[in-house]
Amino acid sequence: MALTISATNLSEIAQPGYCPRCFWVRQKSRRLPYQSFPGIFSSIDRYVKRMARHHFDSAGELPAWFPAVGEVEGMETVPTYRSFAATDPKTGVTLRGEPDEVLRLKGATYHIVDYKTARLTTNAESMFPRYVAQLNAYAYIGGRHAFSPVSGLSLIYFEPDTDVEADPSLAVRTQEEFLLGFTPKLKAVDVKPDSFIEELLLLASQILEPETPPEGNSGCKECQAVEELVEMTRLG
Ligand code: SF4
Repeated sequence: MALTISATNLSEIAQPGYCPRCFWVRQKSRRLPYQSFPGIFSSIDRYVKRMARHHFDSAGELPAWFPAVGEVEGMETVPTYRSFAATDPKTGVTLRGEPDEVLRLKGATYHIVDYKTARLTTNAESMFPRYVAQLNAYAYIGGRHAFSPVSGLSLIYFEPDTDVEADPSLAVRTQEEFLLGFTPKLKAVDVKPDSFIEELLLLASQILEPETPPEGNSGCKECQAVEELVEMTRLG
């Protein structure tokens, strides 16, 4: 059966030390247990998109808080993952995704943005290989749709302003009503050649083709914990 994979899922195998077994299980399973995700992050993402779009529609430019990405002439309508897809002819794998923002720059090139509600810490940077793959997957799809050429990619981190000691004005701001602000920080991502994504698609198809899962990472205690849980409930 033809394989379809999301940009987010593909990015998992770009992270050093990824586990092929975890990747296989995540791709094949329709319902993984214990997968609740706090809805607040989606709300913040949606809010940022609406505010940026609202400002652009009314003022003809991005808001002052939006980090500089070049001379923006337009905000494209971002397709949903159902239609934003491309099939790699070599592997037959279809890649799909839904970028947060596609900006049209002067000179008719495109800049793709992904928002992250998180602090840009060293720990966050350790996830960078994954995000490089995710954004380049969007660029790969964009290059086969109307968004070509893609000239730039950015991660924009929204860091919550909570350090009242360093910035006492935060306390003043919150005297009348409770307000939590965020500081956007841009992290540029290199646009890679198509072969970067095609190699990941080939690796994904090699891992996912077999009917049985590959071995997990040696030394990971979680698989053992899962087996113990299964055994425990079977006996019960
Ligand atoms: S070895 Fe660890 S990382 Fe791999 S499948 Fe098992 S739990 Fe997941």
